[in-house]
Amino acid sequence: MAIARAAAAFPAWRQMAPADRARLLRRFAEEVDGHLEELARLEVANAGHTISNARWEAGNVRDVLLYYSGAPERLSGRQIPVPGGIDLTFPEPLGVVGVIVPWNFPMPIASWGLAPALAAGNTAVVKPAELTPLTALRLGELALEAGLPEGVLEVVAGRGSVVGWRLVTHPAVRKVCFTGSTEVGKRVMAGCADQVKRLTLELGGKSANIVFADADLGRAAASAPMAAFDNAGQDCCARSRILVQRSVLEEFLALLEPAVLGVRVADPAEESSQMGPLISSSQREKVASYVPEGVPVVIRGQVPAGPGYWFPPTVLAPVPPEDRAMREEIFGPVLVVAGFDEEEDAVRMANDTLYGLSGSIWTENLGRALRVARAVEAGNLSVNSHTSVRYWTPFGGFKQSGLGRELGPDAPDAFTDLKNVFISTEGGS
Ligand code: NAD
Repeated sequence: MAIARAAAAFPAWRQMAPADRARLLRRFAEEVDGHLEELARLEVANAGHTISNARWEAGNVRDVLLYYSGAPERLSGRQIPVPGGIDLTFPEPLGVVGVIVPWNFPMPIASWGLAPALAAGNTAVVKPAELTPLTALRLGELALEAGLPEGVLEVVAGRGSVVGWRLVTHPAVRKVCFTGSTEVGKRVMAGCADQVKRLTLELGGKSANIVFADADLGRAAASAPMAAFDNAGQDCCARSRILVQRSVLEEFLALLEPAVLGVRVADPAEESSQMGPLISSSQREKVASYVPEGVPVVIRGQVPAGPGYWFPPTVLAPVPPEDRAMREEIFGPVLVVAGFDEEEDAVRMANDTLYGLSGSIWTENLGRALRVARAVEAGNLSVNSHTSVRYWTPFGGFKQSGLGRELGPDAPDAFTDLKNVFISTEGGS
């Protein structure tokens, strides 16, 4: 029924004057802005995000809506010079877009799909993750309060294998925007093949934070913990493998220790909390399985007493390259540190993974920074920093971290099909 409502809303939405569609998206952004604190508190209660993160996430939804509200009036197509007439291209909206969202960043990830989709003239059905439906449902209400026509944005909570899979199999859904695990993403991709359905995949990661001996070690060590433990490590971009040039490995670990122990793990509703609990008991069990008795824990932080799926910030070293902790996405506050000798070893180790989502490079040598950035097989790299996802720039993965890109100036193009129309100017009297 939700897909049918979205399909019924599509013709009027695509035909709406671009300036009016833009205005409605801006109103939607204003509505989100007016409810930032409410949305943030909802996410703290539902997902255990720290309040400062949750405020950023709600603000990100507003900013993404505002950014793509500029798109309807700029989707101009092209006029291409050809003999015998005029040739035009039209970026045509696809129809209904299904947006399948994971539990780790419920609000931003929903908006990265729905905002450019709506801006390009599509309607959308958003399916939040089972564990975190509340903010998505509230965003659906705010869209209506902002004046978006009924059916333009539908939000349906439910099981992935039922509601999510229906978005994959329903012929009226013309594109699926999936963010989640690589395992489920592969299934979604195979399902979409049946109807040659357009597809964007944002999947898992095992990103490397490469620290060269010539880096500002103090800054590199001070920033490394939150590059891995933000959102309790439940972050696809977590820099969960730190590769350090061997000549400074000891010094780096000595600097890392106070930084890890300084991460404030506390009730996420407290203003100063930097890390909250994990999402669920099963997630805590999964994370704990990477730290069995006997593994070399070099640094272990504290967690508060009392209820909550807490897991302490944990650093493992040395970990052999074939160890699970070195290869699999842990999705919790566990990072591994390993040494490397030469630049090419760092690149080889960074690329020794099925994934390729993000990563960081710390060096004061500009040539090396560029060389290594070009050699690491990942979609989003930062030098002397750990950038989080920014809506101005394209985001997505190499290898099994994904397919296609979200965000950035070109995102609306991914929600259109190009139509080419040739008009003959020959003949006449
Ligand atoms: P998941 O794959 O279990 O679920 C993701 C979504 O897919 C949920 O809404 C779920 O209900 C739905 N789903 C499950 N089975 C389905 C099916 N058969 N058909 C259609 N939909 C189905 O992932 P998760 O545990 O919610 O999220 C964690 C994963 O997401 C991690 O691997 C993480 O790296 C990844 N992630 C990636 C990015 C990125 O942009 N690359 C961002 C955030 C999270």
